[in-house]
Amino acid sequence: MAYNCPRCGAPVKRKGSTIAGATGGLAGALLGSAFGGFECENCGKIPRKEFPPEARQKMMLSSVLMIVGAIALFVVVVIIIALMQ
Ligand SMILES: [Zn+2]
Repeated sequence: MAYNCPRCGAPVKRKGSTIAGATGGLAGALLGSAFGGFECENCGKIPRKEFPPEARQKMMLSSVLMIVGAIALFVVVVIIIALMQ
């Protein structure tokens, strides 16, 4: 999902939090990008509060979906490990 910079209109990139990304694998990376900020090539890091409410709502929704995805992934891994024993 792409968003535009509220300052210059250029597309911004989701910037994952390195701390969450380092804590563990794919689930950590998913959570990292769910909670991480956005970065514009021209303006640098953009706080979420600078985005219009509509964009923030979509960000919130995609963050929730990513967290749900991370939890689902964790559950699947646990089930696979349980079945292997
Ligand atoms: Zn910008």
